[in-house]
Amino acid sequence: MASGARNGGARAGSKMDRQQGPAATPKPAAGKPRLSASASAGGAAYRRTSSGPLPAAGGGGRASSDSGVSSRVRVAVRLRPRNAEEQVADADFADCVELQPELKRLKLRKNNWESDTFEFDEVLTEFSSQKRVYEVVAKPVVESVLEGYNGTVMAYGQTGTGKTFTLGRLGDEDTAARGIMVRAMEDILADITPETDTISLSYLQLYMEMIQDLLDPVNDNIAIVEDPRTGDVSLPGATVVEVRDQKSFMDLLRIGEAHRAAANTKMNTESSRSHAILMVNVRRAVKGRNEMDVSMSAENGHSSSMMGSLRPPIVRKSKLVVVDLAGSERIDKSGSEGHTLEEAKSINLSLSSLGKCINALAESSAHVPVRDSKLTRLLKDSFGGTARTSLVVTIGPSPRHRGETTSTIMFGQRAMKVQNMVKLKEEFDYKSLCRRLDIELDKLIAENERQRKYFDDEVERITTEAQCRVVEVERECKIALENEKMKYHQEYLDSIKILEEKWKVHQQSPKKEVKETESTSNGDVHDLLQNEKMLRQSAEDESNDLRNQLLHWKKMEATATAEVVKLRRMLDTEASQKDKFEEEIAVLKSQLMQLSLDADETRMSLDTGDGPGKIFPGLDSLMSHTRSSQPREQSNGPKAPVAKLFEQVGLQKILSLLESEEPDVRVHAVKVVANLAAEEANQEKIVEAGGLTSLLMLLRSSEDETIRRVAAGAIANLAMNETNQDLIMAQGGVTLLSMTASDAEDPQTLRMVAGAIANLCGNDKLQARLRGEGGIKALLGMVKCGHPDVLAQVARGIANFAKCESRAATQGNKVGRSLLVDDGALPWIVKNANNEAAPIRRHIELALCHLAQHEVNAKDIVSEGALWELVRISRDCSREDIRMLAYRTLTSSPTLQSEMRRLRIEC
Ligand code: ADP
Ligand code: MG
Repeated sequence: MASGARNGGARAGSKMDRQQGPAATPKPAAGKPRLSASASAGGAAYRRTSSGPLPAAGGGGRASSDSGVSSRVRVAVRLRPRNAEEQVADADFADCVELQPELKRLKLRKNNWESDTFEFDEVLTEFSSQKRVYEVVAKPVVESVLEGYNGTVMAYGQTGTGKTFTLGRLGDEDTAARGIMVRAMEDILADITPETDTISLSYLQLYMEMIQDLLDPVNDNIAIVEDPRTGDVSLPGATVVEVRDQKSFMDLLRIGEAHRAAANTKMNTESSRSHAILMVNVRRAVKGRNEMDVSMSAENGHSSSMMGSLRPPIVRKSKLVVVDLAGSERIDKSGSEGHTLEEAKSINLSLSSLGKCINALAESSAHVPVRDSKLTRLLKDSFGGTARTSLVVTIGPSPRHRGETTSTIMFGQRAMKVQNMVKLKEEFDYKSLCRRLDIELDKLIAENERQRKYFDDEVERITTEAQCRVVEVERECKIALENEKMKYHQEYLDSIKILEEKWKVHQQSPKKEVKETESTSNGDVHDLLQNEKMLRQSAEDESNDLRNQLLHWKKMEATATAEVVKLRRMLDTEASQKDKFEEEIAVLKSQLMQLSLDADETRMSLDTGDGPGKIFPGLDSLMSHTRSSQPREQSNGPKAPVAKLFEQVGLQKILSLLESEEPDVRVHAVKVVANLAAEEANQEKIVEAGGLTSLLMLLRSSEDETIRRVAAGAIANLAMNETNQDLIMAQGGVTLLSMTASDAEDPQTLRMVAGAIANLCGNDKLQARLRGEGGIKALLGMVKCGHPDVLAQVARGIANFAKCESRAATQGNKVGRSLLVDDGALPWIVKNANNEAAPIRRHIELALCHLAQHEVNAKDIVSEGALWELVRISRDCSREDIRMLAYRTLTSSPTLQSEMRRLRIEC
């Protein structure tokens, strides 16, 4: 029969299952097809923490949301068949355990008539195949690792019960015998894309608190390094080998095994006293998100599309840890195995502190002694951390080892109570973004230079050509003119000569003839004169003709000059375009610098969490968020490049670009303003320079949703300050934000708007006005979109508002029923009070507590069913302060108290 006390553990285990319920049952993430259907109920209870194809968080180094999903450590028990010796020695005895695999139960015989019953997630009989063991114990974990979560598979049990058989068998002689390590790597290699994903591994042994590299045994005291910011542990000293195919993996396992055997011989130990740890690192590019932008922009190679590809690609870096623990049997403290007492202690240290940590975690005690041993430090993420963990406890059938078998079973039972919060290990790949931007920048600069050179050459060529033509024409004209002149001069001289001769002849002839000839010579002279006149006339005509020709050439010259002027103008236009390019390059460069800076900063900031009023700007303004959450001392450091840019270019100039004719310029300008607005130090300057008004104008007038989204994000950041909140209200900001929300198609726009209104909700003085202008209604209207980021902002806004109302009441102001209740927020609050997303749930829980603090709201709280939620919060909320607040609220309200008495609810 089951003994009540012992079975408590098992019941706790199954109760946790029920609490997770069908809603929490994992769904495989969309995207890559699954390896195959999960084999059993022991399957993965996992889910992506980031939602859909939209990256949830902006500004940070980590692309996924930070809240994990709760997942209990899964425990299977495996019974080894009797071995040859047991078949003889125990022939007359029954096995000490009896398995009921369909009921997932194990009975441990105390004596012939009494037994204890234990429940496990999976009960694997002596007939279970290696394939089934892999599918039940490890496959869900492997699939989860491929999705981007950390995973652990560990075997615990007495020496000789089959830990190594389960995990480490290579299956050389019989492929059906392959153990978990081999099968896991087969599945991993089958699922990854070799071009974008990488798999690497380390193989280690931990003995007497020394970590030895099984791939390079000389390296026998590897230090554990802990990241002071994230607490993540790593082993930078260990050999990491990239694995490309199954054969190389098998070779590595063989090398590791050989080294393990050699090292144990040298140290005079057995492998049963050491822990073997295989760490497989999986790094995968997330496709279909930012990668697409990259390839598109790379194709059309245009600079403005390059701005669109500023989003860094996303990578998932997860880790599978397979641990073959040392035998769990107690070793003789007296050192009978040939060890001194100190050695004996040291050999046991890691295993016994693992037991202590699991006890502490199972009992949710405040202190978990993780730091006591190297094993528990290495497995920090596996128990009570962010990994999905599956444990197989191995037992033998022999009644002679009932003691060890019992303690193994109890270890498994306690481990079943350990709750982890699995988290997607997703981050922005800033390095590859930087590389890509560098290349694009180089291309842009080269193209710009090439164009410039081409234009310079062209202008020079045309100018020289025109000049040559003018010179040529001038020269030709001159020659022609000269020739004509000489020709006519000559003709003139000739005709004068003829006349003179004729004249002489006339003078010399006898007088008598004179009379006769007079009339004749008179006639000759007349003819000559006539002739002369005609010649003159034709000379004049010729000269007119030439003058006309000259005029024509002059005109041609003028046209050529005009052409030169036109070309100069073209050159000027080109030069100004070049300036524009250079300006764009400067912005890009600064953003690039900013990005690399952010990559470092973000990692720090992400672990500090987000302050109450802050918005996660979308990826478009990914630089903004980190700095606003930086601790103060950061601002004493070197100035951020965007800030530098803003000093150089001048805020006025940036703000004036918000009204630019060029849509691209407007988008960049608003992004730059949004980035600046994310820094508290700039906010006052931006508002002074009229930036807030310009941003509100953009909400009113811009047709482009990207602009409205970024502008709303900037306004949200400015709205963190009380003076700005007054200004936003005074300029009709609430109406504009509501309009933006009702036109929005992108949930990220709604997130920005909701964030801005949520900040306004936190201002006591603006409460009535905010509500009067429809702020609350707008906030509630946005929940339709259902996106968790938007819901989180709405919930924050409601919590802020409720908090102000409750503050006003406690300060003795007379307050009526909550405006939130008036505007119909209660049903939504009740519906989402237990939302699975932690940020939404926390805000709503707070809001509900604040609302319930006033007796005026109590009736509505009861009638809308919110009382049940308050009771739940007071009992189950994992945050103690909220739990206490709910409890105090419930106990201090007469209306709620009497309702609870009526319903017989105890608080
Ligand atoms: P451990 O690593 O826990 O010390 P091993 O894996 O070395 O134990 O197993 C001890 C012996 O039992 C080995 O000879 C192994 O082949 C055998 N063995 C263990 N489990 C099984 C099993 N499920 N079926 C058949 N033989 C098993
Ligand atoms: Mg072993």
